[in-house]
Amino acid sequence: MTTVEHKVETFDSLNPATDEVVGTYPVHTEEDVAQAVARARNAYTWWNSLGYAGRAERLQRWKGIITRRGAQLAEVVHAETGKPHSDAMIEVVLAVDHTAWVAKNARKVLGPKRRAAGLLMANQAATVEYQALGVIGVIGPWNYPVFTPMGSIVYALAAGNAVVFKPSEYTPGVGKWLVETFAEAVPEYPVFQLLTGYGATGAALCRSGVDKLAFTGSAATGRKIMATCAETLTPVLIEAGGKDALLVDEDADIAAAADAAVWGGMSNAGQTCVGVERVYVHEKVYDAFVAKTVEIAKSVRAGSDPEAKIGPITMPAQLDIIRRHIADAIERGGKALVGGPDAVGEKFVQPTVLVDVPEDSIAVQDETFGPTLTIAKVKDMDEAVSKANDSRYGLGSTVFAKRRGMELARRLRSGMTAVNSVISFAGIPTLPFGGVGDSGFGRIHGPDGLKEFTRAKAIARQRFKPPIALTTFSRTEKTDAAVAKLITILHGKRK
Ligand code: NAD
Repeated sequence: MTTVEHKVETFDSLNPATDEVVGTYPVHTEEDVAQAVARARNAYTWWNSLGYAGRAERLQRWKGIITRRGAQLAEVVHAETGKPHSDAMIEVVLAVDHTAWVAKNARKVLGPKRRAAGLLMANQAATVEYQALGVIGVIGPWNYPVFTPMGSIVYALAAGNAVVFKPSEYTPGVGKWLVETFAEAVPEYPVFQLLTGYGATGAALCRSGVDKLAFTGSAATGRKIMATCAETLTPVLIEAGGKDALLVDEDADIAAAADAAVWGGMSNAGQTCVGVERVYVHEKVYDAFVAKTVEIAKSVRAGSDPEAKIGPITMPAQLDIIRRHIADAIERGGKALVGGPDAVGEKFVQPTVLVDVPEDSIAVQDETFGPTLTIAKVKDMDEAVSKANDSRYGLGSTVFAKRRGMELARRLRSGMTAVNSVISFAGIPTLPFGGVGDSGFGRIHGPDGLKEFTRAKAIARQRFKPPIALTTFSRTEKTDAAVAKLITILHGKRK
């Protein structure tokens, strides 16, 4: 028998600040994907049989490893994305906190609960419980390569599912680190596996027969994922991009709002799904807000030295998009008060603050994903809400206001809103996270995030024979009359 040797295709993960090769990984094929999913199915049976307590204990063990070696994980994130080490640490800390929360709360959220059976079915005991789906495919982005996919991974695992994870081709090393440390905590079965490769590997995962596909990435890829998953009627969770707005009311703390706008817009070099991209400011405080924002933005610099507050643009193709957005804004009458067209270099983009940019320009309509802000003056907060909501996207949003904070937050068409702080909702494990419109659908985090990876299972158990038997062919006219009478007494009253 002759064996045919297949050469394994590989790809390199690069440090975006230096173009140094950080690691080399296989491009997994459709067959590799099928095998991983088959292994996951077997692992799922064991993992699910551990019950909430058994899984919680193992997730706690993993959480301990991530916490103790957090600096090492942050170093991998820094090498593959270029973001400052301390920013990478924040991601790790938040992911650990979410892991602790799911380990502690999965049973309470998903375990069996009694429901009222109602008068007509008073002889029944009704219960609902949320059962694991089986195998979850997770496809992740590169911008928060720990925090973002972990929002699906740990919730799916805690609910009793096995997970097959395809990280972004820009951050395979982060995925490998997570999967290897999980295997240290849970060595028995491959409950959490890694696949590496480009879009085609992700597409193979969509077609592989997983029980749900959790995707985080751009809206354009989200559409492709949904179309591919439709072939096998595989349900999807789509966490896509955003064009988040920050509103500043006339009674807001202006210094705090400006600080939040600059950090929300420029941290991680603006490569944040819930990053601030547009700002709408009440005319009474517009000048003060702009002055403060400009002052703070001027103190932020992109670079790879330890003093630089933001790193490089991780994905080289994004540089062109950022350049186009700034150029278009300026061409159409906008002014750059900080940065501008020259801010876009070969690897780094310096902070850019734009004003007087028309609302229908691409810098206001499309996700820029760079360290840029557009600031617009509004006559009142109704105009601010209406302009903020005039977007295909609806992921996060921010309001700075004293009196009307909660009211304005409720009126914004977005999945999450922070009032008088920025992006705070992402760090609160009990709060759901997800978008509307082109930002996607479904929710990670919190009780909703746990339920996302389960199916509701309803059980009605008869406790005693019903006084009025409805579900039988031996039902009599007398029974029908009794039912008619009962329903009239219950629901027929004129108000
Ligand atoms: P992307 O859409 O380019 O890629 C995301 C993932 O999809 C990668 O792993 C990629 O390999 C895979 N992929 C690409 N084509 C595919 C295909 N045809 N089939 C299956 N998989 C495929 O996104 P990105 O550039 O990695 O991430 C940035 C985007 O992610 C931004 O739009 C950002 O706003 C968004 N994002 C959203 C959230 C959220 O929670 N809503 C969080 C982080 C990032």
